[in-house]
Amino acid sequence: MNRTQPHLTIVIPCYNEQEVLNETIDQLTLVLHQLTLEKLLAPSSKLLFVDDGSIDNTWKIIARSSTKNKYVTGLRLARNVGHQTALLAGLERAQKDCDCAISIDADLQDDISVIRDFVEKYQDGYEVVYGVRHSRKTDTYFKRTTAQSFYKLMGKLGINLVYNHADYRLMSCRVLKQLSKYREVNLFLRGIVPMIGFRSTEVLYDRKERYAGETKYPLKKMLSFAFNGLTSFSVAPIRFITMIGFTLFFLSGIAGTYAIIQKLFGVTDAGWTSLMISIWFIGGLQLMGIGIIGEYIGRVFMETKKRPKYAIDVDLYTNKDPLSYLKPKENQTLNAKKVQWKR
Ligand code: UDP
Ligand code: MG
Repeated sequence: MNRTQPHLTIVIPCYNEQEVLNETIDQLTLVLHQLTLEKLLAPSSKLLFVDDGSIDNTWKIIARSSTKNKYVTGLRLARNVGHQTALLAGLERAQKDCDCAISIDADLQDDISVIRDFVEKYQDGYEVVYGVRHSRKTDTYFKRTTAQSFYKLMGKLGINLVYNHADYRLMSCRVLKQLSKYREVNLFLRGIVPMIGFRSTEVLYDRKERYAGETKYPLKKMLSFAFNGLTSFSVAPIRFITMIGFTLFFLSGIAGTYAIIQKLFGVTDAGWTSLMISIWFIGGLQLMGIGIIGEYIGRVFMETKKRPKYAIDVDLYTNKDPLSYLKPKENQTLNAKKVQWKR
């Protein structure tokens, strides 16, 4: 492992980012170039763009700039697999030849001037450097409060997360190797990285507005991400259901005794109301319990399949002619058909 002048790979997952990508490439190139000039980084350092099955010009931009810009390389995934998995695909590719890697979003929300601090911390001997947000001023009120209550809830459930840290972080090659051993399908990198251990530290930064384009994390995706994080790392929800079950069982014992005593003294009434309430209450509770347990069984089911998480369509590290992939496929099949016709 080279500490003084490490080979850094910055991994950037991109999904339909054509509006912002050229700017991102320019700005990150500047940062890398500056750091290599100052001999803080090896000149072979790279920007690895992972195209997560975009349907716009994202891949064209990546492939074109890889022919002009020595820092730029890319991976194109065979389909959209989501931010976390796309990021993992990039990190696993990067790990083959880098000393350390930084993961960052394509939209320039994370302050790239702290990349220098990340590298300096790495040179000081840290293996994981977390980018931590100073404040959440640029977030909408809704995103801020939901995100904060998520961190609090996770903390209460005993899941070790770095507060206000998203996926902007540096990891050394050793950490990356260890990360690739986590074979789970339900990926929640923020939870996994602190579990790996090694010497870690934090760097504070301010998160900005998205430079261009729209968020690829609408509310639905955000909720499923949070739910995934919770159920992948904690059995607390199942325990909670069990606890309610026990409490109710105990309470129903008391209620039963009370009812029998009432009966013995002959003061029973029709009891319709209480009966209906309990049927609804217990029925609902049972359904909820079964649902949560089913959720975990579903997860076990997905994990036991051990499906590959992603497929790589094009790898610019090994591909000699990146632009060949830009030719439209329809034309190729059309031409093939024409040839057949002639024969
Ligand atoms: N992204 C991805 N695959 C997806 C969704 C998002 O690779 O299916 C990328 C996206 O291009 C961006 C990063 O993940 O680089 C974070 O997404 P975004 O900025 O939209 O999320 P937000 O910052 O709004 O939470
Ligand atoms: Mg963003």
